[in-house]
Amino acid sequence: MTEVLPESKSSKGTYGGALLEVDNLHVEFHTRAGVAKAVNGVTYSVNAGETLAVLGESGSGKSVTAQTIMGILDMPPGKIASGEIRFRGTDLLKLPEEERRKVRGEGVAMIFQDALSALNPVFPVGWQIAEMFRIHRGMSRADAKKKAIELMDRVRIPAAKERVSDYPHQFSGGMRQRIMIAMSIALDPEVLIADEPTTALDVTVQAQIMELLAELQRESNMGLILITHDLGVVADVADKIAVMYGGRIVENAEVHDLYRNPAHPYAKGLLESIPRVDLKGQELYAIKGMPPNLLDMPTGCAFHPRCPYRQEKCVTDVPPLHTISGTRGSACHFWREVLDGDAQ
Ligand code: SF4
Repeated sequence: MTEVLPESKSSKGTYGGALLEVDNLHVEFHTRAGVAKAVNGVTYSVNAGETLAVLGESGSGKSVTAQTIMGILDMPPGKIASGEIRFRGTDLLKLPEEERRKVRGEGVAMIFQDALSALNPVFPVGWQIAEMFRIHRGMSRADAKKKAIELMDRVRIPAAKERVSDYPHQFSGGMRQRIMIAMSIALDPEVLIADEPTTALDVTVQAQIMELLAELQRESNMGLILITHDLGVVADVADKIAVMYGGRIVENAEVHDLYRNPAHPYAKGLLESIPRVDLKGQELYAIKGMPPNLLDMPTGCAFHPRCPYRQEKCVTDVPPLHTISGTRGSACHFWREVLDGDAQ
């Protein structure tokens, strides 16, 4: 039986629980070469006004999880093996497509990494933003255009009124990303997922985009999920961090706890590979080896081939996510030694 989003939950308003919860999600890709287990039991949540950073290398499962939340995963070859994704308490995976579509954009929206390929090159940017209001709100062309200009102003595109009829290629990378952000917030979503929103941009523009996202979040009290491979980008904006490796969350922590003292060797390695002004001239640390092959995962702990703390047990036993305190957890057999900094 399909579940329908109850009326009382579809209207925005206060909601007691976490706005969005991913619960023990498993996603696989069935390929000719075998089954790639891309997401293996991921659990995380975000509340209104909160920023969760999901961190990991490419292939760690962070973007596949986001695509599954949005309902845009290619199936096949993708397959949701098990788990739940609850928005305001309702499992999105059980909703009929029509209900799901309502949640997409108005409940949960997403900003993609590459604005140039996400925007349509043959339509003016204002038209593309206005389209959201015409389709979802049934506005007239003139009203939708007015709203598009307002949004372009809100994401700080200079001379929005004059530029509303310009095409994507007439904007810089940073401005195109602002246009993507304008489209994603057009319907006033409660949760915004930003998938590597600053990867293609230079450092100064990266900082401006992060600032803009933080500001929009403050104004509207959105929950923000920031997906990134760069721990340096999230330090100032995130409240909590979920570090992913090989399709699992290997460390969950409040941002300050993780920065102060990581409890998983992979998180520790990522932290040590951030350039620091006080260590000018010193060689940057790099985590040795390659991310795991999802078609042929290492036995035991997936990180063991690269881990400086590895012991025999790591090769045979998959580490559970140990609770360290409160909501903090580490999927490492030797998290105590990692916290104490005792490399083997
Ligand atoms: Fe390293 Fe073992 Fe911990 Fe895995 S379980 S991260 S291999 S120490």
